[in-house]
Amino acid sequence: MCGIIGYSGSGDACAVVLSALAALEYRGYDSAGAAFWEHGGVTLVKRQGRLARLEEALAAGKHDAHCGIGHTRWATHGRPTDVNAHPHRSGRVTLVHNGIIENYASLRERLSRRGVSFLSQTDTETAAALLDSLYAGDPVRAIAQAAELLEGSFAFAILFSDRPGEVYGVRRGSPLIAARDDAGAYIASDLPAILPHTNRYYLLEEGEIACLTPAGISFRAFDGAVIQKEEKQAAWSVESARKDGYDTFMRKEIDEQPRALHDTVASRVRDGLPCWKGELPDGFFRDKTKLTITACGTAYHAGMIG
Ligand code: GLU
Repeated sequence: MCGIIGYSGSGDACAVVLSALAALEYRGYDSAGAAFWEHGGVTLVKRQGRLARLEEALAAGKHDAHCGIGHTRWATHGRPTDVNAHPHRSGRVTLVHNGIIENYASLRERLSRRGVSFLSQTDTETAAALLDSLYAGDPVRAIAQAAELLEGSFAFAILFSDRPGEVYGVRRGSPLIAARDDAGAYIASDLPAILPHTNRYYLLEEGEIACLTPAGISFRAFDGAVIQKEEKQAAWSVESARKDGYDTFMRKEIDEQPRALHDTVASRVRDGLPCWKGELPDGFFRDKTKLTITACGTAYHAGMIG
């Protein structure tokens, strides 16, 4: 499970994004990245590996932003590399994504035929390109149209290059919450990212779009209608929020196993059969006669079954 943060307000976006990503580290990740609205455009910084690598890269740049998005990635499509790390940019759209776009291959083919080029191996970049192809100046309309065409699960935090200071959030399957305080508006994958700012939040439902501006937050239905949402109050501390109501991390992780297994395997199964297209050369397994599984601890026992 990856972590997402989006922020617009009066505070230092770089600091808000980094502290939120640190609070979401417990979800697991292999790379981290961020995009900021600054110097009249959107800047991108992303690194494979620990969050500290992103922190170093950000410290080396001169960032002066009050609006941005951030992401910790758990790769499902494409290896953990700097290029595959989020955010992904296509044309006027820059976004971070949690989830899996099941129909990315056919969308990518269709967009490629129209002349769109892709830098990464991810399903996510396809979503960015699709959104850019639909965008005609109205973010809510383009997001609603894209959501209709995307199959699979997603939570997105999105920047448009002609909408300074604005962040958009939408979800299906993957979680996304929204919040605001005196310093601005936030969207995030989970409560620990926003609890240092406020314990009041909104649960974003499917079919709703969160629109963040320096002035606050509003919610729209896919048809553009304004939605009034009820603010909720979290009684949890940062620590108990990380455990999602469970007494222990172990119990939480046991219950998460079906989802974790699905997320790991789903991208490598097509029509019920294993599929390594794009990851291993065709025929890679043809002359192999022996498979060695190396593991220790719990993975050793799983390996024995394997
Ligand atoms: N499927 C996307 C990728 O592989 C997002 C993974 C995530 O949720 O971190 O980049």
